[in-house]
Amino acid sequence: MGQIFTGEQGAPFRSLTRKVQIGDRVIGGGNPVLIQSMTNTKTEDVQATVAQILELERAGCEIIRCTVPTEDAAKAIAEIKKQIHIPLVADIHFNYRMAIQAMENGADKIRINPGNIGGMEHVKAVVDVAKERNIPIRVGVNSGSLEKHLVEKYGGVTAAGIVESALDKVHMIEDMDYDNLVISIKSSDVLMCVEAHELLAEALKKEKTIYPLHVGITESGTVASGNIKSAIGLGMILGQGIGDTIRVSLTGNPVEEIKSAKLILRTLGLRKGGIEVVSCPTCGRTQIDLIGLATRVEKLVEDYPLDIKVAVMGCVVNGPGEAKEADLGVAGGIGEGILFKHGEILRKMPEGELLGALKDELDHWV
Ligand code: SF4
Repeated sequence: MGQIFTGEQGAPFRSLTRKVQIGDRVIGGGNPVLIQSMTNTKTEDVQATVAQILELERAGCEIIRCTVPTEDAAKAIAEIKKQIHIPLVADIHFNYRMAIQAMENGADKIRINPGNIGGMEHVKAVVDVAKERNIPIRVGVNSGSLEKHLVEKYGGVTAAGIVESALDKVHMIEDMDYDNLVISIKSSDVLMCVEAHELLAEALKKEKTIYPLHVGITESGTVASGNIKSAIGLGMILGQGIGDTIRVSLTGNPVEEIKSAKLILRTLGLRKGGIEVVSCPTCGRTQIDLIGLATRVEKLVEDYPLDIKVAVMGCVVNGPGEAKEADLGVAGGIGEGILFKHGEILRKMPEGELLGALKDELDHWV
């Protein structure tokens, strides 16, 4: 584990994957890693689902997935699609008819686990419609639903077993003469998930087609623990050049997933843009409400399309040093603070005016 995974010419693995068109977006082949999320509304409720997708779009979501458990949900897709601006993926479990209806209603991609939609015939029925409309299929397998024979073969649920399960399903669909595919393999065990992606990337290089990979750490938990598990897991996988789309799964508001995904991509240098806030951890020298200020600054900068760094520091010990690197910053004093720009002190002001002064600078940033 842990080696940088590269292609023949030293390029990241993701530049070797085949390009797949999802609605008006293209993934794979070295295209930017796109951020996905999933709605948690009832898909049948068009109004609530559209409202959530629009909110996620504003936060930076680039592909949205909705569950399609009923005929009404499949029908709702047509209406939802009219009102949103990003590709929609239909998530199907157990009922192959829902996959077909979702495609007929305009889904830009479907996500199925060919192992749980009722046998070869049903998979074939889905593949035939996908082929007709050239709709990509994400083949998703999950450690929780690993086939018995693979559990026995590998002496339990293992990374190798998950990879074999995914490739078996890919081969099944290739044998039906369809290869517009994306693969996802998931495990809530972070290190197993990382290992499985490494093995899959290795294995795909020997396959007919190197399919793009959707990466996520499943059932990762509530916002705090889910963020940590996702950052470690996705960081290790993406950092090795693997992964074409990502989802941070959190038990919480999906908008949080987008914020985390953006931060993970930015931290890995896979995404530019957006204001980066750096802030000190506070200590006994802090004499202003720095935690409150940093939280408000983080919220404030969300809406600015600027590619700059803003520092929020508790005191002048590290403040000016940090402010040299940051484009803009504040450092606290005793009930007051200093505003910095490109390492130079602009002015001193009472603590209560710091946020407004930062906002003013951002509003007039050139
Ligand atoms: S910047 Fe100042 S207040 Fe913040 S941790 Fe460093 S010494 Fe403490």
